Amino acid sequence: MSIDLIKSIYYELLSYFVIQKPKYSIEGKCIQCGKCCSQIRANGMRNEKDLKIMQFFFPWYRNFYILKTTDEEVILSCKNLLKNGKCKIYKFRPLVCRNYPNKNFQNKGELIEGCGYKIIKKPFKDYL
Ligand code: SF4
Ligand code: SF4
Repeated sequence: MSIDLIKSIYYELLSYFVIQKPKYSIEGKCIQCGKCCSQIRANGMRNEKDLKIMQFFFPWYRNFYILKTTDEEVILSCKNLLKNGKCKIYKFRPLVCRNYPNKNFQNKGELIEGCGYKIIKKPFKDYL
């Protein structure tokens, strides 16, 4: 298991037990394009084996499959995404989907191009 994957598991677990101060604020609204469900950047993952490990620790990862891999990351897609961009299990979608976009991005806050939301980096004084 790579260090990056261990970090991903650590941050994932942390998000369940530790209340964090948001690093970003979010503006805008969802235009239900489905882009964020079709291309999900999986930090720390490199291959199918890593996905299986994440699925073991966090069962909601079983909704996802590997769409493509690059030298640096894995891009996942969701099995529940319908052709019209809607979610097949919308009422029962995982918490991670309900909370998207998360204000506590571990990496630099980025959204997929065309998303109806906008991420605003919080100024230093707002952390105090
Ligand atoms: S479960 Fe629904 S909301 Fe969550 S990624 Fe899949 S299609 Fe999108
Ligand atoms: S990419 Fe943005 S606008 Fe499109 S479905 Fe996801 S959250 Fe909504």
